[in-house]
Amino acid sequence: MQPQDALKFLKKEYPKTKYYLNFSNPLELLVAAIMSAQARDAVVNATTPNLFKKYRTAKDYANADFSELSNDINAVNFPVPKAKNIIAACKILVEKHGGKVPASMEELIELPGVGRKTANAIMQNAFGRTEGVVVDTHVIRVSYRLGWTKQTNPEKIERELMQLFPKKEWKKLPHLLKDHGRAVCRAPMPVCSRCTLGKICPRQGVTKSL
Ligand code: SF4
Repeated sequence: MQPQDALKFLKKEYPKTKYYLNFSNPLELLVAAIMSAQARDAVVNATTPNLFKKYRTAKDYANADFSELSNDINAVNFPVPKAKNIIAACKILVEKHGGKVPASMEELIELPGVGRKTANAIMQNAFGRTEGVVVDTHVIRVSYRLGWTKQTNPEKIERELMQLFPKKEWKKLPHLLKDHGRAVCRAPMPVCSRCTLGKICPRQGVTKSL
């Protein structure tokens, strides 16, 4: 079965799929995205409402007291390096971008704590600009098991997914794979017996399943 057919199954299975971090402007998304690395989305979303009330502009973060900001986000993993990245990134926003989050891949990946995955997420969800596919751990794991790639490097996987799927699917695809990865195609062991793709999935690399 073609990858596009599997995508149809996933769309049917997860009709309400959506981006998972809460934000109301590009700066909030930048900060939440930096916080979300190796952290649970629910914990980030529980932490950001108070944070976004306290720090409203890039200048607020750029001038923040490092220990205080680390403490403000200490419910998420690795608060110290993340606070450092948020302050450093916002200093660049203030110095180079008039306090605004830039909308280009080149400028975004210059910000500390922002790699291609985060830049793609910011461009798609804050600016409506889709230039690539967000490749996170769920996308890496599920697209590998589905046989869509043999790569393990996120940038190579992104390029392959961009070739497999039309551009109009690039934004929704990682949301669907994340939902599927959480529901059944879990790490370390997938629940293939309950999977909507069970009959068509090659289960590449799967040695044990439930
Ligand atoms: S059949 Fe198993 S390995 Fe394949 S997508 Fe479903 S849960 Fe994942």
